Amino acid sequence: MVDAVVIGAGPNGLVAANVLADAGWSVVVLEAADRPGGAVKSAEVTAPGFVNDLFSAFYPLAVASPVLAALRLEDWGLRWSHAPTVVAHPLDDGRTVLLHRDREATAANLDAFAPGDGAAWLGLVERFESLREPLLGALFRPFPPVLPAARLLRELGVAETLRFARFVLQPLRRWTEESFNGIGAATLLAGNALHTDLGPESAGSAVYGWLLAMLGQTLGFPVPTGGSGTLSDALVRRLRDRGGEIVCGARISEVIVRRGLAVGVRASDGTSYDARRAVLAAVDAPQLLTHLVGPEHLPARLVDDLRRFQWDNATVKVDWALSGPIPWRDPECGLAGTVHLGGSVDELTGYTGALSVGAVPARPYLIVGQMTTADASRSPAGTESAWAYTHVPQVVHSDQGAAGITGRWDEREVQAVVDRIEAEMERQAPGFGELVMARHVFGPLGLQEANDNLFRGALNGGSAAVHQQLIWRPVPGLGRPELPVDRLYLASSSAHPGGGVHGGPGAIAARVALRNAGVTGPLRRAALHAAFRAVY
Ligand SMILES: Cc1cc2nc3c(=O)[nH]c(=O)nc-3n(C[C@H](O)[C@H](O)[C@H](O)COP(=O)(O)OP(=O)(O)OC[C@H]3O[C@@H](n4cnc5c(N)ncnc54)[C@H](O)[C@@H]3O)c2cc1C
Repeated sequence: MVDAVVIGAGPNGLVAANVLADAGWSVVVLEAADRPGGAVKSAEVTAPGFVNDLFSAFYPLAVASPVLAALRLEDWGLRWSHAPTVVAHPLDDGRTVLLHRDREATAANLDAFAPGDGAAWLGLVERFESLREPLLGALFRPFPPVLPAARLLRELGVAETLRFARFVLQPLRRWTEESFNGIGAATLLAGNALHTDLGPESAGSAVYGWLLAMLGQTLGFPVPTGGSGTLSDALVRRLRDRGGEIVCGARISEVIVRRGLAVGVRASDGTSYDARRAVLAAVDAPQLLTHLVGPEHLPARLVDDLRRFQWDNATVKVDWALSGPIPWRDPECGLAGTVHLGGSVDELTGYTGALSVGAVPARPYLIVGQMTTADASRSPAGTESAWAYTHVPQVVHSDQGAAGITGRWDEREVQAVVDRIEAEMERQAPGFGELVMARHVFGPLGLQEANDNLFRGALNGGSAAVHQQLIWRPVPGLGRPELPVDRLYLASSSAHPGGGVHGGPGAIAARVALRNAGVTGPLRRAALHAAFRAVY
């Protein structure tokens, strides 16, 4: 019997297992897929010599994460690589807004859209740098993060805290109207906000656009040299060095609960794995609570709350092997690792508005990755390993385009979205299609088939909307990894602080499990039950 069983070998499961193993616990990680990594995997799926990142690709959150920094993955072989430019966002009028790692260069680009916006940008960056440490400290601690929040408050002062709280709730459009004069900055920030499921008009979108753009400005959008899988490899190697075990091909179908305690798990082939001290589930909250635990072990109010759990949007992703660099109208785009397409902030409002009403957008917003530009090892010299993805509604009510997409997501419907993706590429890079040597496509169902956690291609373990963050993530509760089943912890991106590759939910769950194991059983259980009785 091991001290802890971890379900799921994505970044959060692997981080959780590493933190537990560092504390001397024996750990086994059980993974449904045939190899570890979750949504951090690369493979040759298009053409020989082309490494494609199957899911995630750019890791500003990983390099910013104090959790991953503490694991020192560079000692286990992880190397980072950067594209010359962080982000490019070409507009329909021929101009391109650019995020450079040199802040003065970014400012100069924004000034070309509206004089003065460069100075406003530099002010934002300076402010971000003063807040970064306490802010990230607060995000990566179990809730409530009393000490880092106090440091944040001290840094801001009471008057600025009031204004910062207002900013955190603001829609991106309103905030950028207050802060900038041109569409350059608004579009750059909106393109970043759309890495979540929030549009420019959504409450809370300003802070996401700001956070990602500021991380890009100060740390870049790095990629692991050799493919995203090398990040998972480093986590796996580190864990094995500490005696941790990983079993692949083990799809967990049940958390074994006895007298309100999680005591192990059972795989779909009937094998059971006992856990002496904790079960950490680095899988999505609906799967864990509804299927692996079951409503019979949960308070009725929690079961009811789960009906209101909101997934983030579904996704269609294409990986390409290209015979040459993408022929962008504006050659500046060719220097960026990440390119955002789909028009300016106004068109992005149209795109997210379509998603909100369940319509498949006629014109997609794309996140494009130029991986060979970011890391020359990804494909043969003179070629490009690239991808793009766009979002489609979780539940389709209509199609804004002519293909009559219904949400069945068979080959025809997925291909119709791929056609829209490639048409958007052609709009900014005429002749793009002639370079495509091979493609690999994931529709919403294909993403979920590859990883159960990606419900119809939802990337972030649930919506990033403010009503599903902090003490409302994944459902109204304590904002903590503990669940009403004792010794069971939610360790995936469905938990605070949410999606992205930073290891936050995994590390928080592991730390709380370690701390709880050190407290005498009956007392702690009584306190926990009292807290859960209050919220459920
Ligand atoms: C297409 C795409 C692009 C993305 N781009 C980025 C990006 O560029 N940068 C970034 O920071 N983030 C990105 N993300 C988000 C990021 O990858 C996720 O937020 C992150 O991987 C979540 O980590 P996790 O460990 O919680 O879950 P996952 O990485 O999804 O891992 C969950 C693991 O659990 C396993 N599992 C599920 N159910 C079971 C079960 N019943 N039994 C056993 N095992 C099970 C799965 O097979 C999987 O291996 C992207 C995601 C996708 C899908």
